[in-house]
Amino acid sequence: MTKTPPKSVKTTCPYCGVGCGVLATPQPNGSVDIKGDPDHPANFGRLCSKGAALGGTLSLDERLLYPEVHGQKTDWDTAFDLVADTFSKTIAEHGPDSVAFYVSGQILTEDYYVANKLMKGFIGSANIDTNSRLCMASSVAGHRKAFGADTVPGTYEDLELADLVILVGSNLAWCHPVLYQRIEAAKQSRPEMKVVLIDPRRTMTANLADLHLAINPDGDTALFLGLLKHLSDEGKLDWDYIRAHTNGFDDALSQAIKNTDDLMSQTGCSQAELSQFYSLFANTEKTVTVYSQGVNQSVAGTDKVSAILNCHLATGRIGKPGCGPFSVTGQPNAMGGREVGGLANMLACHMEIENADHRDLVQRFWGSPVIAEKQGLKAVDMFDAVADGRIKAIWIMSTNPVDSLPEADKVAAALRDCPFVVVSDILRETDTMRYAHVKLPAAAWGEKDGTVTNSERRISRQRSFLPAPGHAKPDWLHMVEVAKRMGFGKAFEYLSPSQIFDEYASLSAFENNDTRDFDIGALSGMTEAEFEALQPTQWPQTNEVASAETRFFSEGDFYTPDRKARFVAVAPPAISDGSTDLPFTLNTGRIRDHWHTMTRTALSSRLSAHLAEPFCEIHPADAKKLGIEDAALVTVENSLGEVTLRSLITDRVTPGSVFVPMHWTDQYASNARVDKLVIAKVDPFSGQPASKKVPVKVSAKNVGAFAFLVTLKKPDLSDNPASYWATARCEGGWRTELAFASQRDAMVFGERMAAGLADDPNSEPQTLSYNDPVSRGHRLAAFAHRQLQMALYISVQPVLLSREWMCQQLTQTFETAAEQQKVLAGRADSSMPDKGQIVCSCMGVGANEIFNAIQQGHTSVKAVEDHTTAGTNCGSCRAEISGMINVSLSQTKIAAE
Ligand code: SF4
Repeated sequence: MTKTPPKSVKTTCPYCGVGCGVLATPQPNGSVDIKGDPDHPANFGRLCSKGAALGGTLSLDERLLYPEVHGQKTDWDTAFDLVADTFSKTIAEHGPDSVAFYVSGQILTEDYYVANKLMKGFIGSANIDTNSRLCMASSVAGHRKAFGADTVPGTYEDLELADLVILVGSNLAWCHPVLYQRIEAAKQSRPEMKVVLIDPRRTMTANLADLHLAINPDGDTALFLGLLKHLSDEGKLDWDYIRAHTNGFDDALSQAIKNTDDLMSQTGCSQAELSQFYSLFANTEKTVTVYSQGVNQSVAGTDKVSAILNCHLATGRIGKPGCGPFSVTGQPNAMGGREVGGLANMLACHMEIENADHRDLVQRFWGSPVIAEKQGLKAVDMFDAVADGRIKAIWIMSTNPVDSLPEADKVAAALRDCPFVVVSDILRETDTMRYAHVKLPAAAWGEKDGTVTNSERRISRQRSFLPAPGHAKPDWLHMVEVAKRMGFGKAFEYLSPSQIFDEYASLSAFENNDTRDFDIGALSGMTEAEFEALQPTQWPQTNEVASAETRFFSEGDFYTPDRKARFVAVAPPAISDGSTDLPFTLNTGRIRDHWHTMTRTALSSRLSAHLAEPFCEIHPADAKKLGIEDAALVTVENSLGEVTLRSLITDRVTPGSVFVPMHWTDQYASNARVDKLVIAKVDPFSGQPASKKVPVKVSAKNVGAFAFLVTLKKPDLSDNPASYWATARCEGGWRTELAFASQRDAMVFGERMAAGLADDPNSEPQTLSYNDPVSRGHRLAAFAHRQLQMALYISVQPVLLSREWMCQQLTQTFETAAEQQKVLAGRADSSMPDKGQIVCSCMGVGANEIFNAIQQGHTSVKAVEDHTTAGTNCGSCRAEISGMINVSLSQTKIAAE
């Protein structure tokens, strides 16, 4: 009998805003095979390292499987009754603005729609905001100012059609890897295509760039004001477009002229760099400017966006193939949230709270008793209101504000003191879950159904291919049940995501008549089967025009009252001289293989292999001045707190700046929640916090002993004497970096670890140890059932041994005492050479293997791929391989000279 092959389900990646299509195929053994969907227009089959590793993140080990109230397992009715009752009583006693929802770009459009409708149309407050506020709110504000609507004019295809791609504050290689690969492929086929990177850091994206401008933090406003002036001086303006389709050009230009006296010091770029960039822009018709968090996460984020949009409007380079400004979003459904009204200052379907006609329209459509009449509290203000008691009940969905919001310790304290905190999540333990009075188990990616919108306005289906475990339910259903219990049942009688989508699509077209950009009326009226089969579709999809134009504004027709775009006159932000107490500028951001607060990616040993602990990039000159050694520990601090991180000395950062990733939480490190140092200063228009320019002090941390630990089981790191720890999954077990105030503390820790094994009735450990009196190092390894249970290496210096090799030992069988002794020696031999730090997480290829290949003469990325297999799956490591080739070749050249 032939077996039926497992069925593939077409869904969408849950990470970044590229919105790649995924083919998920559940296997008979319970695993899920993941591939890129070759038919999806965002990725045409490609996936990055995170997407490709999705199958390794589906374990149920850490899932919240049933509702809990005050730490006790309960049933759904009890939990829903309590939430509805407490919200209703709080509103009755203190008014609708005493409650809030804080939601997420992780939830689906249908979840967002129900949350927004419940809060704005039935509770009567606009206190619903989303963590997308931290990611792209400044782009929204910039679009609305210039275009009259939050419209992304272009499509991904424009990135390939452009002759010049400018990447501003965007590490595309790591943060939107599939878009990076699309540009890389286009550049390979048309080498005359140019790429410019504008970023204070020399990120991996610089490997693709013909020109890298390492501008001063927040120097980009001045850079683009200077560009506008240059375009005017050189006669490169499109006067036909300016006259026919825009207003306010003269003011914008005179402000630009007035504020660009000393561009070199404002931007930190040389005259030659400025001239090269300005000339490239001026002389390349097909230009796309891509921007993301480096632009948005600033106190002047909206002005930066305006400065970029002004240059595109002034040259008419918008909405045409290969032309346009292009904001790329960080989250899988940040765009869906924007469309559906997930931001506290918007109504549903891109309608505006301040607009009485819009309020009336939405209220009539919903048949709601009330409608929010003013903007609600944006993320930072919302948690300030929790802290000072104005908000007394908050429901947090699918996000981790205790780690991700600025002044994160204050957020934790606010939640600790808040009378009623509800958290819906898929995980049992997060840093935010800790403060929940009610925990609601949510359905995860692969279990829930609905839609998301990517950065090019493409709506795609997320489809379920696994049953929801335990009592987990989708977020929209949580809210429907609570809405019913609050007395709003009639308006929330949804039985499926398709019914919610249908209402949403109808609202977008309701009395629209081309007055609003967001119109997907043609997608209303679908049957359940049609919704199930919905193909990735770009909006607009209007009832009137069957085949919608996929670009906006090439012929003007903006969404302002006179249908003309508005130039916005902006000035650069004041640049402070810095303080002698806090002489460094901290820049936070993402790394290649982790996502946000690691709630999913840390479940994958493959993704944890690339960068396994929190680090601080610091320039060699600064490190030398401060006596900081590579791979030692540093403290980064300001008045808000301090974090402890591994030092990574590199000239990728400029002197005076440091970079720290945003991902690590208390679940995986002792003290690395970097957002607690970020000051809660926000852009005045968008309310987006400035996560990129934080004044800090950096110093070497005193360490008495360093240690590296591998264990078969997750180590219990509660109540231990370490002054630092960071733990990660690895193939076969766990790897943990530690530091102690003294060697004695390290020894106590080792003894406890070994004693913990002895308590395990399933293992009778045989312990080996070794003291090296010369290096004052100590090594301890325990074996049971011919398998390594734990090995601990203690040293007065940072522990020098191959982490990859050590992790591999957890998967080996040890037949002889001599083999066990090798583990104690901590050295690879020819039977299992040391790979070095993993560069290609898909194929498990390390830096040593890549450098060996380069030394053997494989000096192109393709040749290294062919020789080592690195880069042959998702390709996300190709930028690093290219950087390694450049470093190797330049070292060889120096040696030859
Ligand atoms: Fe997912 Fe990577 Fe595609 Fe982003 S680029 S959607 S993280 S596969």
